[in-house]
Amino acid sequence: MEIVIVGAGPVGCYTAQLLKKYGFKTRIIEEHREVGKPVSCAGLVGRQVFENTLLPLSESSIINQINGALVCYRDDNFQINREGVAHVIDREKFDKNLSQGLEVECGKKLIEINKEGSGYILKTEVEDIYTDLVVGADGANSRVRKYINFVDNGYANDKKKGYIKYYLGVQYRIKVEENLLCSKITQVHLREGIPFFIWVIPEGNNVFRVGVISENAREDLIGFLRDFKIKGEIIGKLAGIIPVGLTKNYYKNIALVGDAAVQVKPLTGGGIYYGLKSAELLAECIRDNRLDEYDRRLKKKYGREIKFGLKARKLYEEVNEKELKNIFMLFKKNAGIIERAANFENHSAIFIEILKNPKIFRDARHILSRNIGKLLF
Ligand SMILES: Cc1cc2nc3c(=O)[nH]c(=O)nc-3n(C[C@H](O)[C@H](O)[C@H](O)COP(=O)(O)OP(=O)(O)OC[C@H]3O[C@@H](n4cnc5c(N)ncnc54)[C@H](O)[C@@H]3O)c2cc1C
Repeated sequence: MEIVIVGAGPVGCYTAQLLKKYGFKTRIIEEHREVGKPVSCAGLVGRQVFENTLLPLSESSIINQINGALVCYRDDNFQINREGVAHVIDREKFDKNLSQGLEVECGKKLIEINKEGSGYILKTEVEDIYTDLVVGADGANSRVRKYINFVDNGYANDKKKGYIKYYLGVQYRIKVEENLLCSKITQVHLREGIPFFIWVIPEGNNVFRVGVISENAREDLIGFLRDFKIKGEIIGKLAGIIPVGLTKNYYKNIALVGDAAVQVKPLTGGGIYYGLKSAELLAECIRDNRLDEYDRRLKKKYGREIKFGLKARKLYEEVNEKELKNIFMLFKKNAGIIERAANFENHSAIFIEILKNPKIFRDARHILSRNIGKLLF
């Protein structure tokens, strides 16, 4: 069986590695000239990425260990400590490590897909490629996903089954003049009008990754650096799209995985862990000749978590200034419980744990009277 994977990001490469292990020969095509470039990622991953994958991942891309988070709202804050909860990675190296031993065909951008018998012809800038099975691992703006939505009209027109909202993320790498920030704790700043948060991630050697996901990301980032008097040399800039929502992951011998399949944590926009775990399910379905099961198995494993995240995201985007302040105060008051329940990759666990406490639930209902029930049921 001919299998072509479109996209040599971490998820496409990891899928190819798994399929190789299961004895399949795959081709992997990549539009850029080099794997891992350009980088569009803050590079903060939970320790699970290196501890909980089927194929062990090289740790040589890890450049710093994170021991907790300082959550900030205006000039108030509280800290959650968790030794080694996450790692800061060199994302270019991370992707390159995952591509080791694969023959990635770089400089081959997929332009068009056409049905050919039971398979497909993939038209690239360089050549036309026939394949029995297409794996779309081509990121947030997936051309493969657009093809599925185009041919499967019934699906694209049914908003109940899927929708995607796109957010812009911008990040600067800054070498600070005077290091007043902790080198092992990330900062998360909540602000009105910002649908996610502003992050400050310590990379080491006085370098910090400061970024935001919002409608006016550049302006919000510059405003934050000014307000918090973060001064230093900007040594790198990046931007990228974060897709949030739900989509269909399989259609007639075409499967989507990673950002292409919107396998992204709706509350933070992080997609590496879910993408890798989904690649494992996809490779298993291909191995077992049960591709028709892929969508169902994914939903069974991650559907609840993603749906919870989507509800929480909707709720968070609707809160007003007073509610945001009260949510922050509620979290601050219960920082100990959050610290115990904290799970970098499974956000519902934290919410469910804290809302199980009747007093906290009452306080949360008081703040979010109109919607708190929707989050849980
Ligand atoms: C600003 C920002 C910060 C982020 N921070 C984090 C973070 O800290 N932690 C985290 O877990 N996640 C983070 N993410 C999300 C994370 O980057 C993605 O979830 C992850 O890269 C998904 O991997 P992927 O392999 O599915 O897609 P990608 O990494 O996007 O890889 C897709 C690949 O497909 C290639 N491609 C695209 N179109 C074509 C085509 N037509 N033909 C051939 N090749 C093609 C691309 O060049 C690329 O190499 C962040 C995202 C952004 C934008």
